[in-house]
Amino acid sequence: MDSAPVLERTWAQKSGLGWVGKNGNLINKQSGSFYFIATLITDLELEYDDPFAKDYCGSCTKCIDACPTDAILPGKIIDGSRCISYFTIELKEMLIPDNMKGQFDNWAFGCDTCQDVCPWNRFSKPHQEPAFQPIPAILDLSTQDWLDMTAESFKQLFRDSPLKRAKYEGIQRNLRFIQQD
Ligand code: SF4
Ligand code: SF4
Repeated sequence: MDSAPVLERTWAQKSGLGWVGKNGNLINKQSGSFYFIATLITDLELEYDDPFAKDYCGSCTKCIDACPTDAILPGKIIDGSRCISYFTIELKEMLIPDNMKGQFDNWAFGCDTCQDVCPWNRFSKPHQEPAFQPIPAILDLSTQDWLDMTAESFKQLFRDSPLKRAKYEGIQRNLRFIQQD
């Protein structure tokens, strides 16, 4: 049962899998930060690894410099009230504040800028999982096609997609917002 939040990246760091970067993501030297973290909650006593002790961000500030909305604060804190991912995925049934206009760099669902610029992601490898391939029917949609999409088509196209999290109304709101840029 999903009854309480689990801060996966912190447990992953405690499990020796990598460090939390300035962009707030778990990073490891072999794969960067483009992967999922899986959590298994059990009361079995297992052998465990030591926490990951190092931090290989060093003096790099690429994610901070590249963030379109200046959402990355000192101390590995992401300001949710400025982050595009928060606004476009998590903000429910509300308008995106006017003071964010012109800053979204055309992101309509989430934002990967702070991971795209991270030097450790040079070591990421493309996945081989067919279920993660883009839905072919949406690859050639124009902005107008997206804006004209009905709630019924959205439901059918994205029945197995994370876009369901933002819902039809959320995606339409996001599209209209970036249109005002
Ligand atoms: S997801 Fe985008 S907006 Fe949010 S902190 Fe990263 S670069 Fe900034
Ligand atoms: S871009 Fe640089 S500072 Fe940001 S998380 Fe990656 S290594 Fe760390």
